[in-house]
Amino acid sequence: MIKKSPRWALIMAGGVNLLMGFIEITASFFSLSSSLFADSLDFFVDGVNYFSSLIILKKSDKIHRKVWLIKWHMMVIFGIGVLLWAIFKYIHGWIPRWEVMTTISILALWANLFSAWILQAFQNDSLDLRAVWLCTRNDALWNILIMIAGYLTLHFSSPLPDIIVSIFMGILVLKSGIEIIISPEKRESHSHH
Ligand SMILES: [Zn+2]
Repeated sequence: MIKKSPRWALIMAGGVNLLMGFIEITASFFSLSSSLFADSLDFFVDGVNYFSSLIILKKSDKIHRKVWLIKWHMMVIFGIGVLLWAIFKYIHGWIPRWEVMTTISILALWANLFSAWILQAFQNDSLDLRAVWLCTRNDALWNILIMIAGYLTLHFSSPLPDIIVSIFMGILVLKSGIEIIISPEKRESHSHH
């Protein structure tokens, strides 16, 4: 049915992450949820991570460095973007649509579990399984937090739960982006949290 190769697993996981990123970023704009926006950026970073693992398998140092630079810039720009968007939303007091937040975060949770499952099923030496699980665990935790934030938004009719979750996510992405530039050994790491 399916070909057993880590290459195939990385393409599938990368594809699922990028697709979910596009779904989530679209949903974040019409629901005005900054936590969904932050989570969509995480899917893009993860997607690029998985696809870059394919290139890194070929071990070209020049490409390796280029991918690392793109990743680092992505994380810093995304982190700042999330924080600015959260502040802008706070000033305007926009209340996000809770039903979109909960529905999309459930879908995102499934996407994360699916890509972890596919990577562990087809893993070999080139895949750091522990890093994959660590990343998935953190991502799943964020999905659950957005679900809770959606629920709190419904109950309190407040923009704050969404803004608080997105500020935490923005700070974490920014922190990992800065960590990558400070400690070079983290460049090799699959995990970005
Ligand atoms: Zn992630």
